[in-house]
Amino acid sequence: QAKAAGRNTLRFYDPEMQAVVIERATLEADLRQVIEREELSLHYQPQVDSEGGIVGVEALLRWEHPSRGQVSPGVFIPLAEETRMILPIGRWVLHEACRQLVAWQGDPHKRRLRVAVNVSVQQFSAVDFVDQVERILAETGAPAEQLELEVTESLLMHDPEETRDKILRLRQRGIGFALDDFGTGYSSLAYLRRLPLDRLKIDKSFIRDVHQDPTNAAIVEAIITLSNTLSLAILAEGVETEAERQWLEAHDCRFYQGFLYGRPAPVSTLALDRLPGTALR
Ligand code: C2E
Ligand code: MG
Ligand code: MG
Ligand code: MG
Repeated sequence: QAKAAGRNTLRFYDPEMQAVVIERATLEADLRQVIEREELSLHYQPQVDSEGGIVGVEALLRWEHPSRGQVSPGVFIPLAEETRMILPIGRWVLHEACRQLVAWQGDPHKRRLRVAVNVSVQQFSAVDFVDQVERILAETGAPAEQLELEVTESLLMHDPEETRDKILRLRQRGIGFALDDFGTGYSSLAYLRRLPLDRLKIDKSFIRDVHQDPTNAAIVEAIITLSNTLSLAILAEGVETEAERQWLEAHDCRFYQGFLYGRPAPVSTLALDRLPGTALR
């Protein structure tokens, strides 16, 4: 109804819809202040090999809102993208993850960990993205070879040449690249072949019950075959059960992330010492 009223006038006939709009505006206003109010933090979730050794962690952003408590990234990341707040927030995330990498250098259990950081399309597409990463590495002194950036297939719909060029420049510095949520987007296989990636992360929706869901099994097998063809490492996300893990291992997928191994946790309670092995890659 509001749309029918025309482009420049918003009228709310529907109190529920009005509530939604006000809610969004409030959240958006709060989001603009998250950095100066220091409401953001990173949680880390282990990535594990088939021997159970931790090879890395994924940094996942958390927003502790003063009155609402934890706001889900599924809610505030899209809002941050729409409002371009993702640019300063994304810089904050990279800086914080690099700072953590450096802090872990003094810990024999953690100093070889790779840290994976999610980068949104807008952040990656900014003209100064490569410089930004360089600057953060220089400021923090973080080891570039232990940093992995997770990008999504939506990147492929932007200028593919520029994307390729940026990835190559960052890879020359030693930074790794993973394609996140693989299978949920629209990547053209022709572009995918041209992208200098290190790893595909199979989206968790395909991992659910993969041992007994024939459709998921067929999709995951196809993705594993594709990753072999393209010489990309493969990691399954959202592994929740031992049955799923066993199926994956039997099908040559040897890296896992999911609740089976641990939920995302703040650094203070991150239990990485219990697990054997910290081989990198
Ligand atoms: P993602 O990058 O695909 O991250 C994995 C998500 O799956 C995380 O949700 C994680 O908590 C969840 N997960 C991990 N293991 C399991 C499992 O076994 N089962 C299930 N059901 N879920 C599992 P989270 O933390 O809510 O983050 C959601 C999304 O928000 C992320 O998906 C990512 O796209 C985005 N995000 C999170 N942090 C950042 C960030 O720093 N920057 C950007 N641009 N996006 C971020
Ligand atoms: Mg991710
Ligand atoms: Mg994912
Ligand atoms: Mg995701």
